[in-house]
Amino acid sequence: MPRIAFTPFRKAEIIALAESARAKYHGMSIDEIAESEHIILIREPDGNSKKAGYACAIKSEAPKKIGSLSHPGKFVLSFAEKEITYHNAIVINPLYGIPEREIFWHEFYHLWYSPSRQMKMDFFHQFSTGGALDAQEERRANMFAAYYLIPELESGDTPQSVSEKYFVSDDLARLRLRVF
Ligand SMILES: [Zn+2]
Repeated sequence: MPRIAFTPFRKAEIIALAESARAKYHGMSIDEIAESEHIILIREPDGNSKKAGYACAIKSEAPKKIGSLSHPGKFVLSFAEKEITYHNAIVINPLYGIPEREIFWHEFYHLWYSPSRQMKMDFFHQFSTGGALDAQEERRANMFAAYYLIPELESGDTPQSVSEKYFVSDDLARLRLRVF
């Protein structure tokens, strides 16, 4: 069995990923981006939930089309063999209290780049306030969102000025100011 060696992204790589994503999706809404990347974007409003969102792959099974033995060239559907498809999905809780775009870009990072993705797990991440399994990976996802949504800082910027300029939460603005 080959072992999966996943090298986590370094800060400079995360910044580069965020910048190329920003160039690619410039001017698009998260709904348009999701559509163009075949990501199912689901909004699940829950005012009592401590979960901002999560990323997952929804598995779907269908009977497989197989070549007919009695009628060569024709196909029959068989339940004996299954056609398995994965649909990438990002689920956002719009009542969590931070901008949807922040949740989207955080989950986008998990969906595309987190190690669980490479291990083909169904669920890549649950973005919640309580007990992150991997604090480092959380930080990477937040850094990606921060660099995507806050392209530039000016001298004298504060969490308040950054959050007003870029419509992000104070926490994300603070993280962006801290890492640079
Ligand atoms: Zn996360």
